[in-house]
Amino acid sequence: MIPYGRQSISDEDVAAVVAVLWSDFLTQGPAVPRFEGEVARIVGAGHAVAVNSATSALHIACLALGLGTGDVLWTVPNTFVASANCGLYCGAAVDFVDIDPVTLNMSVSALTAKLVAAERAGRLPKVIVPVHFAGEPCDMAAIGALARRYGVRVIEDASHAIGARQGGRMVGDCAHSDVTVFSFHPVKIVTTAEGGMAVTQDAALAERMALFRSHGITRDPALMRGEVDGPWSYQQLELGYNYRMTDLQAALGLSQLSRLEAFIARRQELAARYDRLLAGLPVGRPHRDGANLSALHLYPVQVARRAEVFHALRGAGVGVNVHYHPVHLQPYYRALGFAVGQFPVAEGYYDRAITLPLHPMLTEAEQDHVVASLKAAL
Ligand SMILES: *Cc1c(COP(=O)(O)O)cnc(C)c1O
Repeated sequence: MIPYGRQSISDEDVAAVVAVLWSDFLTQGPAVPRFEGEVARIVGAGHAVAVNSATSALHIACLALGLGTGDVLWTVPNTFVASANCGLYCGAAVDFVDIDPVTLNMSVSALTAKLVAAERAGRLPKVIVPVHFAGEPCDMAAIGALARRYGVRVIEDASHAIGARQGGRMVGDCAHSDVTVFSFHPVKIVTTAEGGMAVTQDAALAERMALFRSHGITRDPALMRGEVDGPWSYQQLELGYNYRMTDLQAALGLSQLSRLEAFIARRQELAARYDRLLAGLPVGRPHRDGANLSALHLYPVQVARRAEVFHALRGAGVGVNVHYHPVHLQPYYRALGFAVGQFPVAEGYYDRAITLPLHPMLTEAEQDHVVASLKAAL
């Protein structure tokens, strides 16, 4: 089966992980801050907090922004469940903003209308989570302007989009958001096996996220309260978690980062080749804005009779996938009161959506097989 996504591991990656295994620290050592520093440098963020997944990064970002019971978080239905679940973890309510039918990202007009209505109802969200779907950046200038106007905090879910650019800026510079989150799962752009990171320009937010990453415990005397017993003392200031990344993971991530541009360049080449090979077929190809550089995590197309096409492709050894089953239609969210018809653009897109294989290890021969199988299925 040709997978829809997979990691690319080099001899240098293996050597970097093995070197950590022979070193003094398997976790809480020097590789984690080095990895944080390198991601921060590449994306132009002031601070970075590495964790064991993007899901954890979303959670500590919400906690650091003070999201809690009685608050509301908005995200899009066309995403992985983690973008919404982070709100529920904090005891907040979750609601959704429909997507734009062209970009498949958060619709700025739907967001505007929903903010106007929410302000009238006295129920503005505390946090919104736009998702850079497939690696294509959302319109962050517009979303950031709306957030400032309504006093809403913004967490960019850039799980698909490390290395992506918007105009002259990198996704992750947080020019229009409070925090940006990346995932290092093996199907994403660069991997640490499991892993994630939250980046921000706000030192206080970074400090709070670091606290929530590790049990809410500090060893920094400057942060301690009351009497400090001695140099052995640490204090728990918040109810945090163990969301730490290991040094093995950070070393793999650091080594992978040296190929970030090459990975994206190869994804760009393969996507351009799909664009050419699919031209003229009854297939909706993904939109790409010429002013942006998409990280091209996914190559999602739209077809009629999606289920039949899906079965035919899987039967031909093509590991197609579907991104995404709208989150509000998951049984857990239906039980919270969501229903079919509430976010029609995301629902309509889902009915036609099928993700073709795209990753740096994909060969042109494999790609030709994908396209021939798709033609036969249509
Ligand atoms: C993969 C993904 C996540 C979760 O990432 P993990 O590192 O697996 O926790 C969150 N949001 C989106 C949009 C994703 O694609």
